[in-house]
Amino acid sequence: MKSKLFVALLLLPLLSLGWGQTGHRVVGEIADRHMSPEARAKVLEILAGESPAMASNWMDFIKSNHDYDHMKKWHYVTIPDSIDYHEADTPHGGDAYLTILRIIEEIESGEFHGWTEAEALKSLIHLVGDLHQPLHVGNGEDRGGNDVRVKWFGEPSNLHRVWDSEMIDGQQLSYTEYTNWVDVATQDQISKWQSDDIQIWMEESKAMRESVYDIEDPERLGYQYNYDHIAELNDRLLRAGIRLAGILNELYG
Ligand SMILES: [Zn+2]
Repeated sequence: MKSKLFVALLLLPLLSLGWGQTGHRVVGEIADRHMSPEARAKVLEILAGESPAMASNWMDFIKSNHDYDHMKKWHYVTIPDSIDYHEADTPHGGDAYLTILRIIEEIESGEFHGWTEAEALKSLIHLVGDLHQPLHVGNGEDRGGNDVRVKWFGEPSNLHRVWDSEMIDGQQLSYTEYTNWVDVATQDQISKWQSDDIQIWMEESKAMRESVYDIEDPERLGYQYNYDHIAELNDRLLRAGIRLAGILNELYG
């Protein structure tokens, strides 16, 4: 029985989706708590009553439907170590950065191309989160850490998944409990973060890589790695939620 379970775990698909469900919901929930009443009412209306937290994973849920295959490369950007975004090649069909810009433009103009406003808005909520996951600003060498095999508390995983979901799920908190834990920004931080250009979000994620990839023994990732990184992971979720609220307040407030 035990060996069967082990084999099943080995066969789990190792290519991950962006922050896991809880991470994306935390970003949506933080944004919800920092939106103006006008913006919140408008967003809720467009989402037909679904909260930003619960709408945040739509972009991952549709990945099994091939009608949406063109959206797969919108979840990340690639910036090799030695260059900046503008020197890097943008994939044909776009990336996370260009897609966020396009969605903002479509919402401002009220003209939506190939999707509804609700779908565009759900994607915006998701992608602001993705760009804050340091491994969604990939180095172009290992599919955002998906190819970096590790053992997380003895179970096969990979570095991307550790950042998407392993550390977050390991806290064993609901997304609202997690939000209560990390939603502690000062007014100064909120003003600063909401005025940062999207390129700064990407630079921050890229700058984290050195520490993210600093792994002593890939076979034994667990308490120490979590201890070293959970505060900066939580900071990424917080910044993403605060910045998302800033954008939604501007668009719908
Ligand atoms: Zn994603």
